Amino acid sequence: MNRRTFRKVMAANRGEIAIRIFRACTELGIGTVALYSEEDKLSLHRYKADEAYLVGKGKSPIDAYLGIDEIISLALKADVDAIHPGYGFLAENAEFAEKCEAAGIAFIGPTAEMQRALGDKVAGRKAAMTAGVPVVPGTEDPIEKEEEALKFAKESGYPIIIKAAAGGGGRGMRVARNKKELLEGLSSARSEAKAAFGNPAVFLERYIENPKHIEVQVLGDNYGNLVHFFDRDCSVQRRHQKVVEFAPSLCLTQTQREELCTAALKIAGQVKYRNAGTVEFLVDQEGNYYFIEMNPRIQVEHTVTEMITGRNLVQYQILVAAGHKLSDPEINIPSQSAIDMRGYAIQCRITTEDPANNFAPDFGTLTTYRSAAGAGIRLDAGNAFTGSHITPHYDSLLVKVSSWGLTFKDAAHIMNRALQEFRVRGVKTNIGFLENVVTHPVFIKGSCDTSFIEKHPELLQ
Ligand code: ADP
Repeated sequence: MNRRTFRKVMAANRGEIAIRIFRACTELGIGTVALYSEEDKLSLHRYKADEAYLVGKGKSPIDAYLGIDEIISLALKADVDAIHPGYGFLAENAEFAEKCEAAGIAFIGPTAEMQRALGDKVAGRKAAMTAGVPVVPGTEDPIEKEEEALKFAKESGYPIIIKAAAGGGGRGMRVARNKKELLEGLSSARSEAKAAFGNPAVFLERYIENPKHIEVQVLGDNYGNLVHFFDRDCSVQRRHQKVVEFAPSLCLTQTQREELCTAALKIAGQVKYRNAGTVEFLVDQEGNYYFIEMNPRIQVEHTVTEMITGRNLVQYQILVAAGHKLSDPEINIPSQSAIDMRGYAIQCRITTEDPANNFAPDFGTLTTYRSAAGAGIRLDAGNAFTGSHITPHYDSLLVKVSSWGLTFKDAAHIMNRALQEFRVRGVKTNIGFLENVVTHPVFIKGSCDTSFIEKHPELLQ
């Protein structure tokens, strides 16, 4: 594959990640193209790009960003060289990746083939097993019949987690502690998966009690070279969805860290992975680790990795997609040992949700929006400004706040200070809840597991 020069890149996305992509492009001297739905005509990402085009006229707000053929034809008209899909929407749509390449537009991400080999959790587990990496004991294939589920339960015992093969964002998952819950969960998970992902396939895994969620950031170029950027701890979750993430994890010994990072590279190597990806593991109370899935895209929490390594992952995505080698001076990763980390970084997702009302999304006009600033803070915002209209159409992420400190405690104190500086009026947010999390003694020790929020209802006060 040859090197190409990207003059213009389109972000097939919205909100903070579209703006993040435009910033990376502008710093590289590349022109930027935005897409916006009718509902997003006043959204900030539209104005942060050099050019912007309306998409999905007459479609639903979400479908507007899912029109593969329309987006590609707009990209051709705008003469873009590459499309960055961000996360969500078309980021893991193999057909989109294929159609971009067929139209002569570079897709900034892994190939369709790699997406197929990893995007589905069942396929990902198979790739991990082939690579010799431990997976959570589970069914090899999706479960069709009740008997198959009962057979697995007999062999492995309870608790069991039912998971959608195509799942994401914690949806399509059920924990079953007995036969009744297993059979009920099976049918409700299947219908939830069908509605959310258009694919009802579910499989079973042993449910690991109170694990930590640790993931490894990887990056591959188009020539088979792969590196990792250490780990993130994403154990602070609500309903299996990440709320606060940090890097690096405080629970791994040096040997465990090396093992986990090596395992991540093995899985990525197994499919000759290219571009940025994340290999997710659960680590149980005894320190055993198990692969759960690989996400073939940039993730929301990539910011904390950027802060501890001083590396710009979104720029690297663009550069490797343009055919640069990892060792190329523009990327400058001659070997794995060139990547080092310093200090600790924490990311909080400020959302327009009401913690007092079961985190129901809130809407309206931001009558006041004053964000934090000062040393050690990074902000990645979507539509956060005074006067902005928060609509019910899209996810409720308002701004990602990331802090950096030489010690984890410093990073936590900086985060708490930053959260206190925010003034958001007109729409409810989870800021008070996040303050409770980052000042909690269990959090400050870096020892939260995935049950932390559930076990500490006082965080909601
Ligand atoms: P999604 O793609 O929906 O994010 P994941 O497979 O990444 O789903 O899992 C999300 C979270 O669900 C994990 O971080 C963990 O908290 C929980 N989880 C998933 N699998 C298991 C398991 N086998 N045992 C215990 N918890 C699990």
